[in-house]
Amino acid sequence: MKIVMCASEVVPFAKTGGLADVAGALPLALEERGEEVIVIMPKYKSVQNSKFDIQVSKEGIPYSVLGKKIKVYFIENDAYFNRDALYGDKTGDYPDNLDRFSYFSKKALELLKTVNFKADIIHVHDWQASLVPVYLKNLFAKDPFYKDMRTLLTIHNIGYQGLFPKDEFPKLGLDWSLFSIEGLEFYDKVNILKGGMEFSDIINTVSPTYAKEIQTKEFGFGLEGVLNKRKNSVFGILNGLDYSIWNPETDKFTAKNFSAKSTRGKEQCKEDLQALCKLPLKKDVPLFGIVSRLAEQKGFDILADGIDAICNLGLQMVILGTGDLKYHQILEEMVKKYPKVISLNLKFDDALAHKIYAGSDLFLMPSRYEPCGLGQLIAFRYGAIPLVFKTGGLADTVDKKNGFIFDDYSKDELIKTIKASVAAFKVKTKWSGLVTGAMKLDFSWEESAKKYLGLYAKAKKTK
Ligand code: ADP
Repeated sequence: MKIVMCASEVVPFAKTGGLADVAGALPLALEERGEEVIVIMPKYKSVQNSKFDIQVSKEGIPYSVLGKKIKVYFIENDAYFNRDALYGDKTGDYPDNLDRFSYFSKKALELLKTVNFKADIIHVHDWQASLVPVYLKNLFAKDPFYKDMRTLLTIHNIGYQGLFPKDEFPKLGLDWSLFSIEGLEFYDKVNILKGGMEFSDIINTVSPTYAKEIQTKEFGFGLEGVLNKRKNSVFGILNGLDYSIWNPETDKFTAKNFSAKSTRGKEQCKEDLQALCKLPLKKDVPLFGIVSRLAEQKGFDILADGIDAICNLGLQMVILGTGDLKYHQILEEMVKKYPKVISLNLKFDDALAHKIYAGSDLFLMPSRYEPCGLGQLIAFRYGAIPLVFKTGGLADTVDKKNGFIFDDYSKDELIKTIKASVAAFKVKTKWSGLVTGAMKLDFSWEESAKKYLGLYAKAKKTK
């Protein structure tokens, strides 16, 4: 099959979250299975010629190669993409995001013709690429080159929909008739993700539980009706993990390498992390890691409410992340109060993330909702036992046998579960069994890639 992966962030070129991990790893897994894949993403500032081997195609398009021969084409427009960040700065989203990503989507489709890639499937991700199916079925509908192309939209988080004022609609170059209930209209605003949901042939999200959850009022962010209408075309496929990147046996960022067979190196990783974060070097105190966006979605509301009490439970905590200023401030206060308990790192830092997964005994991820979550999967592989709220992909991957899970979203339940995990950590032989068991779990892409191929085949059969 000829497959196009179209995403606004792709590892290793640009990343703000799990979407990039998926868009970088799934093509590799598909290529392994013998499929022909290309990737299309914007040429951000981070896509530097010096860092990646960037070439120019005979048609004049910059590209790089992933895996054996996956071409990653970059849509270039310096005014739109040559910026420090992907979607916004500390004042909020970039005001011209609709211009930026409608440009990206249109150019991505044009590129297929330019490089003569007659795709079977265009697999688009999140709102930033959701205009691809809209344009394909409207602006490009008459062009025979595109006639047999089908689309799959993967929703990585339905909380981010690409909402814009109605008066920006004309910029999309679409007929006003599409500003309707069956189109992109949403409470008198433009909703780009909704457009993708209306016009893609198949929709999926990144775990079976989240696929069910988003069809309810509680989790659907207003789009549950659209999903219900298309419920026979909505699926859930758990993300895999790229174990060539996330592998404690070969990790270049960690103080020592280790494996399920020999976890000794993990102790040194813990000591290294404690030293780096200026925490007391203590073996017998459980070290909790957090690598996350600091957002309410990730459970920071109950965590912020409970953090003072949590700091008194006989543990250490290393937090890495950026996000809502409110949480930056609350956590900064806590660091002042408990400098020997918490280390706060308000930044995006891939190397430190690796060190945290490797050096932590537990990984805290009390997300209020979680489409799939990669943090807990990475944590498993590094023997950091996840402690999570029972929702979405966390409910599909963590249970009482491999981690700690609570099912009532409240500060009190969080604290109770942390207490229980601290007590469990003290029972050494049982704990080391938990660690090695977690490290052996397999969430590789193989199974998920097979399932995606199943969805592509289904999409091909649609009219
Ligand atoms: P999200 O909702 O943010 O996509 P996921 O759990 O699916 O959450 O994926 C988050 C990914 O981003 C993981 O690979 C995690 O390690 C990484 N990550 C999150 N915050 C940071 C940070 N501040 N520094 C480095 N990596 C981070």
